[in-house]
Amino acid sequence: MVTILEARNLNKSYTTLPDKPHSILKDIHLQLQKGEFVSIMGPSGSGKSTLLYTISGMDQASSGSVYFSGREISAFPEQALAQLRLTKMGFIFQHIHLLKNLNILDNIVLSAYMAKSSSREAVNRRALTLMQKMGIEELAHHNITEASGGQLQRVAICRALINNPEVLFGDEPTGALNSRSTNEIMDILADINAAGTTILLVTHDVKVAARSERVLFMMDGELVADRPIGNYVKDKDNLKVRESLLSKWLVDMGF
Ligand code: ADP
Ligand code: MG
Repeated sequence: MVTILEARNLNKSYTTLPDKPHSILKDIHLQLQKGEFVSIMGPSGSGKSTLLYTISGMDQASSGSVYFSGREISAFPEQALAQLRLTKMGFIFQHIHLLKNLNILDNIVLSAYMAKSSSREAVNRRALTLMQKMGIEELAHHNITEASGGQLQRVAICRALINNPEVLFGDEPTGALNSRSTNEIMDILADINAAGTTILLVTHDVKVAARSERVLFMMDGELVADRPIGNYVKDKDNLKVRESLLSKWLVDMGF
């Protein structure tokens, strides 16, 4: 096993009132192995998004360290960190944040043009191949207002994958989708993981977490449990069993 991402003694607090720091992350330790698919579950306000942003270098911890492939990225200057995020990490969110004045293909390729690691022709080809895999290639030259929510989340996944990231992070990526689109998006994420991309998702949805192989549970800024659930294989009955196991754990933990 190769550790791709690691957090040690991570703490984060906000000072909203003078001399009264509000502690959001409390001494978090976590390790993500290359190729893993891990979910983080927990009640609203427990610090899941803050944890995701802190370990992906989008936000800074108050103390502690984050390592990406053995390098301490929490000590990187902002520009080096931005370059690492651009080339090694992909992000998908609940709200899709696409640019309205660009067509769908241009939204997908933008960060690859910025990374300048391949020619624009190669980037466009890669974007079209990704779009084909997601079944949205016919939308390439359309405006984002012409696509449905499920289609736009596929666009967001293509955008997140355009630089071939090592780790794909998601914060409630299906939070705005109906259950059919959720299942379709999760099928896509399972395939992406099977092809080798490490995935870390924040979710409160057992349908989403049931696709991962390990689930971390957060409560009041602390990681309170870390449970392996084995690899998901494409089997609907098995998925139901996994979902009910997770639901039971959530009840047991008082979530
Ligand atoms: P979750 O994603 O689990 O719902 P968050 O990580 O978004 O939780 O938030 C955890 C806690 O941190 C919440 O109590 C929230 O109000 C607080 N919080 C998040 N961002 C800020 C901020 N910028 N300033 C102050 N408090 C914040
Ligand atoms: Mg959140």
